[in-house]
Amino acid sequence: MIQKIGVIGGGQLGRMFALEAKRMGFDVIALDPQEHSPCGQVADEQIVAAYDDTTAIERLGSSTDVVTYEFENIAIKSVEYLEQHGYRVTPSSDVLRITQNRLLEKRFVRSCGIATADFAEINRLDDLSEAGMSIGFPAILKAVHGGYDGKGQWRITSLDEARAAFSAAKGVQLIYERVVPFARELSVVATRGSNDAVVCYPAGENTHDRGILAMTVAPARLSENARTRARAIATTVGKKLGIVGTYCVEMFLLASGELLVNEIAPRPHNSGHYTIDVTQCSQYEQHVRAICDLPLAEPRLFSSAIMMNVLGAGTGDHLTGEAELLADPSIVLHMYGKRHAVNRRKMGHFTMLVDGQVDEPAIARAKAALAKLGWA
Ligand code: AMP
Repeated sequence: MIQKIGVIGGGQLGRMFALEAKRMGFDVIALDPQEHSPCGQVADEQIVAAYDDTTAIERLGSSTDVVTYEFENIAIKSVEYLEQHGYRVTPSSDVLRITQNRLLEKRFVRSCGIATADFAEINRLDDLSEAGMSIGFPAILKAVHGGYDGKGQWRITSLDEARAAFSAAKGVQLIYERVVPFARELSVVATRGSNDAVVCYPAGENTHDRGILAMTVAPARLSENARTRARAIATTVGKKLGIVGTYCVEMFLLASGELLVNEIAPRPHNSGHYTIDVTQCSQYEQHVRAICDLPLAEPRLFSSAIMMNVLGAGTGDHLTGEAELLADPSIVLHMYGKRHAVNRRKMGHFTMLVDGQVDEPAIARAKAALAKLGWA
């Protein structure tokens, strides 16, 4: 019987996970180095320690029935420690090893028979000219480990720029990726249970701003055929990866209709926040269910949605314009309890419920709603 859940990482994903777990009657212990973290604020307890602090990981494992994580850039040795010491932890270290390494991840996706952007491994300066010849420009150099929200990425249009990016990367291993002229960016959030059952949410349509997710439209405006293929890709990835829990597969849809997988997140995802407000079982609840061996729920979508991220501006820590925003009854606001609204930091999000298919006027309304918010 699972009663206590441990979560490594104290960010907003952990917070929304913990809120759902609490609603379902579980106890939650968070582990994060930052005191009073977004997740720690709503959990029963927070262990304040680094993600790779073995003593703290031991404490988390021994005081809970199952451990999970909300962030893939944690030390893999923490997950291995839990596994080796007989604690239940999911997703497994095998899943984390693949999903925290962009090269292993792309090779894994291709091994599933699923397409990705052309890529090459860059270990030495000389590798760049070869990649430039075989893959071409424009391209993106990305750190193989640790990059997220557009960090550790350099867009390049020439070999000279590639060399400059290589030296800016200061010796970290890189992947050279062709820039894909995508028509749309999509993501499918899904959950796999330990019995190999997979449930998928409808594909969402994502807009990024300088590498950070700005908006998700759900369901994505897609042909039935593309919808079905996106879902099949997410299902295959989850099954082949053997993940237990909620995960997200990010994809590029090309004008030709082809789908390329960009990234896999082994956890609930920013593009699945809307599931809290418009489904009977959110991505976070599905994660609770999966890791606690409870049945997954085929999602029912009560409404279309537009999710807008609320980012800090570096101009103050107090949110303004909330009253104007909430005058619209179709908006649900979620704030993460972060104290400092650092420029471009994810501080919260809102979901706008939309009747019928999302269209451009609805998107314009969501953008106008976001513009009401500010920081002072
Ligand atoms: P990533 O960290 O790989 O998710 O990249 C962040 C964002 O950068 C993506 O969501 C895309 O908007 C953009 N991006 C990443 N890789 C590519 C690519 N190969 N071609 C075009 N855009 C990309």
